Amino acid sequence: MSTGTKEDFLKALTEVVGPGNVLSAPDDILPFLREPRDLFRGEALAVVRPGTTPEVAEVMRRARAAGVAVVPQGGNTGLVGGQIPDASRPMVVLSLQKLDRIREVDALTDTMTVEAGVTLLKAQEAAEAADRLFPLSLASEGSCTIGGNIATNAGGTAVIAYGNTRDLVVGLEVVLADGRIWNGLGKLRKDNTGYDLKNLFIGSEGTLGIVTAAVLKLFPRPKGRATAFCGLASPQAALDLLALAKAEAGSAVTTFEFLPRLGLEFVLRHAPGTRDPLDGPHAWYVLMELSSAAEGGLDEVMERILGEALERGIVDDAAIAASLDQRNAFWKLREALSEVQRYEGGSIKHDISVPVALVPQFLEEATAAAEALVPGCRPLPFGHLGDGNVHFNVSQPVGADKQAFLDRWEAMNEAVHAVVLKHGGSISAEHGIGRLKRDLLPAVKDPVALDLMRKLKAALDPDGLLNPGAML
Ligand code: FAD
Repeated sequence: MSTGTKEDFLKALTEVVGPGNVLSAPDDILPFLREPRDLFRGEALAVVRPGTTPEVAEVMRRARAAGVAVVPQGGNTGLVGGQIPDASRPMVVLSLQKLDRIREVDALTDTMTVEAGVTLLKAQEAAEAADRLFPLSLASEGSCTIGGNIATNAGGTAVIAYGNTRDLVVGLEVVLADGRIWNGLGKLRKDNTGYDLKNLFIGSEGTLGIVTAAVLKLFPRPKGRATAFCGLASPQAALDLLALAKAEAGSAVTTFEFLPRLGLEFVLRHAPGTRDPLDGPHAWYVLMELSSAAEGGLDEVMERILGEALERGIVDDAAIAASLDQRNAFWKLREALSEVQRYEGGSIKHDISVPVALVPQFLEEATAAAEALVPGCRPLPFGHLGDGNVHFNVSQPVGADKQAFLDRWEAMNEAVHAVVLKHGGSISAEHGIGRLKRDLLPAVKDPVALDLMRKLKAALDPDGLLNPGAML
């Protein structure tokens, strides 16, 4: 701290947010200092929980006066450690969870104004109550927040049809490093009056400002839906199926997720109540969903696509969900995948993207690279095939020592990322940079782009108070 004692500072924060909203006892702050994968354990003077935007602004001003850095945190589901403060300097965690109001749903304008701490699930439910869809969809939606989604520009399973979070934000309210509030909560779809400031903050991982509220885009709620689980021989066959589905159904293709046999085996082994909907093992699986605002008719389109795919040998077997329960069961096979890997020992993660057409080649080369590095390791690539985003995770060899395998994390990253870069891909498709990939950034980012990023950071946060150590 540059001025005063810790006690003075905590007292100053308590004046702003009230007693009970400044946590400093080790047991109270511990849940905010660990993240889902337990890769990072943080340190903080305190966790502060403001309940309104003016309170966030005042906390920011007081932190600035004391020279204390601020790490914004939403649902703490981030996978790159950006929400966990490090020990490099005095920091507080600023939890946005109490900013949890839906300020307005404007069904005629097709927008919804929500505060940053609203969970994604609550936002989806508010849209549904107005007969609209907020299409962002992640397996962490029960806990992650809209502020966190915006700060990480989250992707998820509906990007193929609706885009990333960036494509779903119309306006923002942001508290700046100097404590000023930028009210950019307009509902305009068209506004060419200068720089698009909101896009600076989207994906900035809490390093440029604190998002306190957002205007989000709403869409017609799908009334027709058809969901299929397909077995295929190869990733190339999956791409052929995608092309066929797009040719037949166009923008009605709203989900196109893939997983290998190993992934399905992990799920069947560790997620209670799951079962394989297809007869016999297949090397690869695709979860495909068509949806449309018009009622009915999509089952026939799905049958036509799959009929042709079977005839042409693209798909080897497929099941179409005949009920909501069956649809949920198909989705569970995909959604349980993130969770079940932990029961198979150590897992080294990658969140990469390559141009969609190059996914098969990437998979072949990255699998060979991983197996050459750690013989017997079990690559488990899965994810959002429709937008070229592969979670190229690698599970430890059966019976191997977990820590010895995890000690190869950096070498494995290097081997896999070399293949990614060779194909013009990205080493972080949707999870961001955070603390996990910060040191990789200089090697992969265009130097001019990196220089511009540093200049923007210096302009908006000259004292480096916002989430130091994350991203840059
Ligand atoms: P946090 O984890 O709290 O924070 C993440 C980052 O955003 C940090 O850098 C933090 O400082 C910053 N931040 C948080 N709130 C604010 C704010 N209000 N203002 C400024 N900065 C802020 N991600 C995907 O993209 N696609 C997926 O499919 C996906 N699936 C997941 C599945 C599981 C099971 C899990 C555990 C995670 C998954 N994630 C996925 C990652 C994660 O859920 C997303 O990154 C999510 O957007 C993070 O939201 P959060 O509220 O938990 O943010």
